[in-house]
Amino acid sequence: MVNIWSLIDRVIDTRCALCHAPGHAICADCLITLPRNTRPCAHCALPLPESAPTDTLCADCQAHPPAFDHVMAPLLYENPVDGLVAQFKYRQHLHLGRVLADTLGTEVRGQRAPPVLLVPVPAGPRRLRERGFNQAAELARWLSAALDIPWSGSRLIRASDTPTQRGLPRPQRRRNIRGAFSCTGPLPDHLALIDDVMTTGATAGEASRALKSAGVKRVEVWAVARTPRDRWNRGSG
Ligand SMILES: [Zn+2]
Ligand SMILES: [Zn+2]
Repeated sequence: MVNIWSLIDRVIDTRCALCHAPGHAICADCLITLPRNTRPCAHCALPLPESAPTDTLCADCQAHPPAFDHVMAPLLYENPVDGLVAQFKYRQHLHLGRVLADTLGTEVRGQRAPPVLLVPVPAGPRRLRERGFNQAAELARWLSAALDIPWSGSRLIRASDTPTQRGLPRPQRRRNIRGAFSCTGPLPDHLALIDDVMTTGATAGEASRALKSAGVKRVEVWAVARTPRDRWNRGSG
């Protein structure tokens, strides 16, 4: 359960998480300084060097195209975005999560053929108990309202907790997460998988594989932030 008292506290006294100016969870001045993923891989949104031409694919996507079709991740998972996500995720700072969802919403709005369903990456049962909420489901709920696209937290299921992915190389992350997801109920041809941060892409890849096995034709991944390759050992997904 979300701690109602910490929530009320924040409603009464909202301050910018970065400069402490009163009024907003992140003030407009700080919001525009957040590091942006300006040169993403055209498939997986991995941050590429600024010198890379647009529509470049990273080496991994060229060698092994992932199961998802496209990734949108507007921010870079580095200072101070990592701290903001941690406050949202571990301290349930929902105001902050809302601002991050809006940042993502602005990025994905206005697609010619938008997905018809938003599906959050599910948390395992133990993690859900420990944390009290699934941050990806919160993001999906807010995006759903902002974009007028339905969401469902019950179509993609994670039956058990996988070992923590933090610090593991990608091949091991892939092995850890293999078979973690299953699908229930009707699924549309085109949906977006929602997560807070995409690290190596192992989790999103495995979830997409399950969704495609269940008949989904196009899976987009929408994440608030993407982790640069030199920081993969610090992220969890
Ligand atoms: Zn500020
Ligand atoms: Zn890529």
